[in-house]
Formats: sequence, C-alpha cells, structure tokens
Amino acid sequence: MDEKLESIFWNIQQRNQGETEFIQAVKEVLFSMGPVLAKYPKFAQQKIIERICEPERQIIFRVPWQDDRGEVHINRGFRVQFNSALGPYKGGLRFNPSVNLSIIKFLGFEQIFKNALTGMPIGGGKGGSDFDPKGRSDDEVMRFCQSFMTELYRHIGEYTDVPAGDIGVGKREIGYLFGQYKRISNRYESSVLTGKGLSYGGALVRTEATGYGLGYFVQEMLATRSESLEGKTCIVSGAGNVAIYAIEKVSQLGGRVVACSDSSGVLFDEQGINLTTLKQVKEVERLPIESYCKTHKHARYQRGGNLWSISCDVALPCATQNELTGKDAATLLNNGCIAVAEGANMPTTPEGVELFIESGIAYAPGKAANAGGVATSALEMQQNASRDAWSFEFTDRKLASIMKDIHGRCLETAEEFGAPGNYALGANIAGFMNVADAMQAMGL
Ligand code: GLU
Repeated sequence: MDEKLESIFWNIQQRNQGETEFIQAVKEVLFSMGPVLAKYPKFAQQKIIERICEPERQIIFRVPWQDDRGEVHINRGFRVQFNSALGPYKGGLRFNPSVNLSIIKFLGFEQIFKNALTGMPIGGGKGGSDFDPKGRSDDEVMRFCQSFMTELYRHIGEYTDVPAGDIGVGKREIGYLFGQYKRISNRYESSVLTGKGLSYGGALVRTEATGYGLGYFVQEMLATRSESLEGKTCIVSGAGNVAIYAIEKVSQLGGRVVACSDSSGVLFDEQGINLTTLKQVKEVERLPIESYCKTHKHARYQRGGNLWSISCDVALPCATQNELTGKDAATLLNNGCIAVAEGANMPTTPEGVELFIESGIAYAPGKAANAGGVATSALEMQQNASRDAWSFEFTDRKLASIMKDIHGRCLETAEEFGAPGNYALGANIAGFMNVADAMQAMGL
C-alpha cells in the first residue's frame, strides 16, 4: 500500500478498534486502490474511500422473545445500512451465534462492491442477529422473527432497504419476517424483502441462485484457460443453501463433487455426493451431515476433519468467513488444485488469498463469484415492481448472463489496471468505480 492509503487505513483501524473482520475486509479492498487513486486523483480529493468505509447508518436493537417453555430470551439485532449511492440498501440477514457488529459491517462493506459489480441498481447493507436457530422449533423461530421485525420494520422499505437471507435465514424465516412487516405496516409491499416463497411474490431460481451463479462463474474462469468442469474433481465446503446448489450446478456442468462439510465435520463420497440424500438431510430433516452415511454406507464422515486436505482440481469454499487458511491454501496448491471460487463471503484468510494470487491459479473472490444470489434478488425486485413472474428458464438465462458479465468486467478491469488475471483486484476496482462515480455525481 502507498503512503496515502496506509494513512487512510490507519485512521480506519483507530475508529473501528476490535472489529477484526471489518478491518480485514477494508484492508483487502484498500490494497487494490493504489492504481485507482493514481489514475483518478479526484477520488482522493473528495475522500471517496474514507466515505465508503464509514456506514451511512448503523442500527442495533433488542430482540426479546419467548421459547416454547415460556422462558424469555434477549438477543441483539443489527442492520448496517452501508451505502445507498446505487440504490436502496440491499443485503441479507444472518442469524448465527457468532454475529456481532464487526461481522455485519464486514459483510455490509463487501456487499457494496458485490452489488455494484452486478450492474444493478442496489446499494449495500447487511443485518442479522446472534440468535441461534439450530435446535429451535418452528414456533420459536416464528416468534423470534416477529420480534426482530417489530423493530426492523421502521428502518426498511422497497425504496429504503431490502433485506434477504444469509446463514440461518432461508425461506421459512423470510416468510415469518414478511408476514410481520405486512401486519404492522398494513402494506403488501412485495419487494421489501427478497428470497420470498413462490406463493407470495418470490422468484424462481432465487433459492438456487448463489450456488448456480458460482457454477457459471467457475465455468467462465476455466474457459479462459481452455479448460472446463468436465471430469474435474471438486470439493465444496458447507452443506447449506449455497453449497447444495453449487454442487448441483457443478455436477450438471460435468464436475464430480466428492466432498462437502458442515459445522460438525467432513463428508467424503468417492462416488460423488448424492444430492437427493444431501437435500433430505440438510433441507428437510435439518440434521448433521453424518446422517448421509446411514443410507450411503460407503461414504466416510470425519468429525471435525479438514476438507481442504482432500485432493481436488476445483475447490469451492461455501461455508463462512476465514474458513480456508494460508496452510489450507498451500495444501490445495500442493495437491494440484487449479481453481478456487468463493461461494461464501471472505472465506479465505489474507495469507491464503496471497498464496492463490501468487500461484497464478484461477482464484475468484466472493464479491464476484457469489454475486448471483443478490443479482437474482434484484431480479425478484424487478418482477415485484412489474407484478410479473418469470419462468425458471428465462430467469436462469439472465443469471448466467449476469455472471458472464461480472467475470468479463473483473478480467477487463484487472487488465486495464496492470494486473492481468487478478480477479480480486478487478472485482474491487470495478465495483469501486461504479459507486465512486455515483457518489461524486451526487455531491457531499
Ligand atoms: N446474503 C446474500 C449475499 O451475501 C444475498 C443477499 C441478497 O440477496 O440481498 O450476497
């Protein structure tokens, strides 16, 4: 980093002490900004970087709720409305015990650039709670969502802020949240939330979108190297919504996914992960991944194992932040991995990212590779605005073309700024340029 950026970064660190994930995400973006400031000094004069790194608004609230035995619990709710230069704040809600302000801020910050890269009119935001839905009954989840929305409703709206799902928030939670918003506001405001069920304004392909988009992105990356997914051995971390549909798309495109994981351990099936069973275990029964082995006796499960030690051609981290370390990256490279694309947000540590970029393998950051989810959320908003419902094929074609465009934009930008093939730099700069232009045009 040059001196000017070093000093910007130092100030941001001082203002946000202890927020390790947020500071990590900011540092990664600032590393790419040198050539931009050199080319466009106006952005430095107007302190666009400093402005982008400070959220427009941060909301923290109390969420009281009662469990099935009548016991009262208090959780903390968050919504960080980071940047609205390109459109209403847009980004998911995460319900997980690890959630804190630093995590929501890092996710909201990443979302600004990701959303800008899609080329759609959406700003960046993120929210969530330290509530743990694991082991909770449907009724408990409903009561929690209703209490969460009882405060959140006053801060969101189709022209203000449009939340969606993330870890721990799927169709079920979005349904309860939407119901409560409708009840309190007395408005059928379809696009106040995305990821809705099909019967009340949801869009086909939204469920599959992040994973499918990741598959399309990998296909594009490999094609630039005259390669394809055909016959490639792949490993996918996670077993949630992103991982499941990444496995589905990669398999459709000819890849063989032999391993995936969840917070309890690693599953290895040399015959290829059976998706029908995986969906039954994770989506329907909501059980630990080990249950897969009950019906697939040849598969191996290792409690707490390390997925990244399994040899593969393509690795797709689709679980959570900082799940792939420098050591894991070295192992993957030693084992001959040729492509890594992130389905999760910031799953690779800075040491790992550096190794991937230095090695020259195809490496795509989450901002670019997992943008299919939020892009399809924007397509859901388009359908809601025109009171229309598109077919699966039509929406899927749009998603594939958006991912192809993002891939092209990253490569062209990397080339233009002197780092050919560096998707991380391309994604950061291409996303930044859109937001910076809009912010400059709108004045202080
Ligand atoms: N949580 C997803 C993400 O990280 C989707 C957000 C959305 O659809 O608004 O991009």
